[in-house]
Amino acid sequence: MQRPLFFHNTLSNTKEQFTPLRDDGVRMYSCGPTVYDRAHIGNMRSYIMSDMIRRTLEYNDYIVKQVINITDVGHLVSDEDDGEDKLEKAANESGESAQAIAEKYTNLFFKDLVRLNVQTEGTQFPKATDYVAEQIAMIQTLTESGHAYRITDGVYFDTSVFKNYGQLGGVDTKTLEAGVRVKKNEEKRNPADFALWKCSPEGVRRQQEWKSPWCVGFPGWHIECSAMSRALLGRQLDIHSGGIDHIPVHHNNEIAQSESVNKKQFVQYWMHNNFITVEGRRMGKSQGNLITLDHVIDRGYAPLSYRYWLLTAHYRTPANFTWEALDGSHTALKKLHKYFIDELGAKDGTVDVAYQEKFHTFLNDDLDTPKAIALMWELVKDDRVFAEDKRATLLEMSKVLGLGLAASDTSLTQLLTGNAKKIEIAHAPEKIQELVAEREEARAQKNFDHADDLRQAILDAGYEITDGADGPSVERLS
Ligand code: AMP
Ligand code: ZN
Repeated sequence: MQRPLFFHNTLSNTKEQFTPLRDDGVRMYSCGPTVYDRAHIGNMRSYIMSDMIRRTLEYNDYIVKQVINITDVGHLVSDEDDGEDKLEKAANESGESAQAIAEKYTNLFFKDLVRLNVQTEGTQFPKATDYVAEQIAMIQTLTESGHAYRITDGVYFDTSVFKNYGQLGGVDTKTLEAGVRVKKNEEKRNPADFALWKCSPEGVRRQQEWKSPWCVGFPGWHIECSAMSRALLGRQLDIHSGGIDHIPVHHNNEIAQSESVNKKQFVQYWMHNNFITVEGRRMGKSQGNLITLDHVIDRGYAPLSYRYWLLTAHYRTPANFTWEALDGSHTALKKLHKYFIDELGAKDGTVDVAYQEKFHTFLNDDLDTPKAIALMWELVKDDRVFAEDKRATLLEMSKVLGLGLAASDTSLTQLLTGNAKKIEIAHAPEKIQELVAEREEARAQKNFDHADDLRQAILDAGYEITDGADGPSVERLS
């Protein structure tokens, strides 16, 4: 059923009522992972947010056409136009090919999405390397229309030619000159100008490089999103989502490129999730506090408990992850499942209309998942609602929030193990078996740091370990 739906739009910085551009489906694009490394739990917030946008739209009977891109080239370590390409760097450091690294982390990313109950059916996951021709064509249009210019190391977008550059999030281009984006490249016309195409450095043969009208090189990270969204969803999108860190640069650059080529407003609703910190600090490899879903599972928590924890905070507020908080969410989710199985029987009644309406209104109010979850508990405690009606209502709520109550009928342990396919340890090579045994030992002694290192060693050897109710299992990565 459709009810008035409101989203906070970064473009206007207000909550706006949602109306789709077309009748045949809502076009939604979410910036996806750069697949040079394992995605961490902070990254997963972006995909759970876009999943909640999609589920809410579907709850309102909209058809959703969703794209999440895979960045497998062109994202530089600086997040700007200089420094190494994240994938080439990872390839040089590990000795594996950039393509093999991209494949490995793309597969792990998909696995994480499944474990977190992120709907992927019908979602398109284009890889940047599959859309190089489209990117070159777009850059060509930009050079012909005077929006782009050639300098020694590549082709750049001229931000002074695009009238509203920096509009999203109210970025003041003047402060850029004195601020973070220091004019490093003397040939650039304006400090905010950014690379559309980069030439491979003199004398360097990159693993991933293509011929272009300008030089042998590779596309910039921003043009990838503009080209892939246009190729798969058309010139205008209803919704574009991503983390707040993308507002000032990446998303303003996407707007500048797309609107200069498409001659239409690129996106109607821009939606951004806030950051996850860990024990009060920004998460990062260099900080040594990078947590992945595997770490969550290693400590005996269900991936869905992490999803539940995320949904107890609104996506626009920062959230601070602690193991105690996750423990609380895990306990709550298990309690919910247990109550559902033990107390509500197996027969579905009818959905309680009063609860349904409230639930729907909360979700339609810019995805107010904390209130929706609180309402679930209110329903659990409400003795006036018959067990079978409660069951039907909770099932509907769980379906929209992705909390897995329907699966609970068959097995609660599913919740604890995620959805990974199991392989007998005994079938793995001896070296892997030894590492698994050593890791079990480390876990038994609560030496989790060592256990994490061993998981990484197993991963480096091409296997992924999953902890289940019957002990660990491994899976060979293709
Ligand atoms: P990346 O793979 O680095 O491009 O990031 C993928 C997505 O995760 C982007 O939308 C980022 O904005 C988002 N992201 C990165 N770090 C965090 C964090 N700590 N909390 C929430 N979102 C994050
Ligand atoms: Zn993007």
